Amino acid sequence: MLVKLFLSIFAGLFAWSATPQTASAVKLYIFDCGTLKSGNPDVLLARGVTTTDMSVTAYLVVHPRGTLLWDTGVIPDALIQPGGTTEARATVQKTLRSQLAEIGYKPSDITYLALSHNHYDHSANANSFAGSTWLVQKAERAAMFPDTPPQNPSNAAPRFSALKNSKSVLLDGDYDVFGDASVVIVATPGHTPGHQSLLVNLRNTGPVVLSGDLYHYPAERTLKDFTPFAALGNPQMEVASKAKMEALLKEKKATLWIQHDILAYAELKKSPAFYD
Ligand SMILES: [Zn+2]
Repeated sequence: MLVKLFLSIFAGLFAWSATPQTASAVKLYIFDCGTLKSGNPDVLLARGVTTTDMSVTAYLVVHPRGTLLWDTGVIPDALIQPGGTTEARATVQKTLRSQLAEIGYKPSDITYLALSHNHYDHSANANSFAGSTWLVQKAERAAMFPDTPPQNPSNAAPRFSALKNSKSVLLDGDYDVFGDASVVIVATPGHTPGHQSLLVNLRNTGPVVLSGDLYHYPAERTLKDFTPFAALGNPQMEVASKAKMEALLKEKKATLWIQHDILAYAELKKSPAFYD
């Protein structure tokens, strides 16, 4: 039993260290899920963030063994009017469903759903993917579906409620989604109890990491004392996750895509174009 356990740990380590060249051909699509205004721009402007508006994104990973949708937008598709819809600080022009359809997918085609975390600007359309297999950290699921319903439920709760009955893979750390090291969920708790990021090894583009909300702006990487969102979660855990991420980026020579970085996002190819 113990030997078997060690073998599986070794197999895991081996998969992790596989080079991108050995990984299967993977495509990564970026969906435009709108923009989000900062709720507290002054603190950001004071630290040199020039553009406080944020991009809102979702991503589709297409792998020979299945598809993975990463995050699901900020306003549910059902509320999006032709010409765009604004809800609180968010504005969305295109539905997620229409962007999936444009490249030939409908929600029921999606093998795996993973959210970087449960917040409303990542989980708006989660219920539409309740038929997919949900890849979620144990701690995140526990926060999303507590045994005792909270006094003030999260505003996102109705938007992800259907995931409670989804076929789920409960994670407790990093996870190699397709078993070939091409797509790896990286546990980065702190912002929420089970926050996670996604490493995608692309043959031509090289390794890319989708940050979730580990960072919101590039300044959070350079100014070590600049953690404007830490108070939302567990600051110590967030610091540890950032250190883990920076080491990973260095080791893999990976590019970090900060999902909310609207300036970097503007330069990236959007679906139906893709990265491979
Ligand atoms: Zn966010």
